[in-house]
Amino acid sequence: TNEEASAKAAAASAESGAPTIFDKIIAKEIPSTIVYEDDKVLAFRDISPQAPVHVLLIPKLRDGLTELGKAESRHGEILGHLLYVAKIVAEKEGIQDGFRVVINNGQQACQSVYHLHLHVLGGRQMKWPPG
Ligand code: IMP
Repeated sequence: TNEEASAKAAAASAESGAPTIFDKIIAKEIPSTIVYEDDKVLAFRDISPQAPVHVLLIPKLRDGLTELGKAESRHGEILGHLLYVAKIVAEKEGIQDGFRVVINNGQQACQSVYHLHLHVLGGRQMKWPPG
């Protein structure tokens, strides 16, 4: 499928550690709708929302975290902060009673941007298992 082909291409370019579109969003070189920001993380609306609320939450400093699978012990603090802020975002968006946090890791999970990000989704009935 197209999704699988673009995930494969993204995985190949991730090997080089090249910057991603999220660097431009962090630098505000390309516009985004920011829903939360602090000195360490940024949350903004996904350009292709898969639910009424679909927010992406990223560390401002990638620091090797192209994907969760690259996490090392030193990343513990930022990883914990991201999960905490996911809850803050859910509250701000009014979906605290039912939301989903997703991390797609690698080609087989259809990761398309190689800068760690949490998807915070809600505002509709979710299904399980995911596709
Ligand atoms: P992944 O597929 O888990 O890597 O998620 C990447 C997400 O980034 C996808 O849901 C895309 O829709 C989203 N995305 C890509 N480019 C932009 C952008 O410029 N602004 C906001 N979201 C984006």
